[in-house]
Amino acid sequence: MGSNKVQNNQKNGDKTKSLFDEIKKDLEAQRTDLLAEAGVIIAGSLNPRGEAFPDLSDQATVEADQNFLLRLREREQKLIKKIDEALERIAAEEYGICESCEEPISDKRLKARPVTTYCINCKTEQEEQENNRK
Ligand SMILES: [Zn+2]
Repeated sequence: MGSNKVQNNQKNGDKTKSLFDEIKKDLEAQRTDLLAEAGVIIAGSLNPRGEAFPDLSDQATVEADQNFLLRLREREQKLIKKIDEALERIAAEEYGICESCEEPISDKRLKARPVTTYCINCKTEQEEQENNRK
């Protein structure tokens, strides 16, 4: 007896909340980085011959803001979308639940891949199915 301790900490609201706060900060930082990279892409395309950097006036910055999503590469667009969705799920308190089996996703996995929507079991299963299809 007692060798079979079941971990029953469904009610770990405070711990989970601070983890989510941490993840939220990480996601926001990652998003900012991606947008900064997009800024580099915009500067590069405005100035293809590598001449002195144009002095970006406020006007140019506003235009860049409006167009930045169109100028991002597809992979970055997808990542920003995932980050936004993850931030929305955190705000709606739906974050950290597997889309497939509706079980909580482990803290470790959320930290490693904060934009994930599947627990490790479902993700592994999905990848195996994808590999079998090839
Ligand atoms: Zn799952």
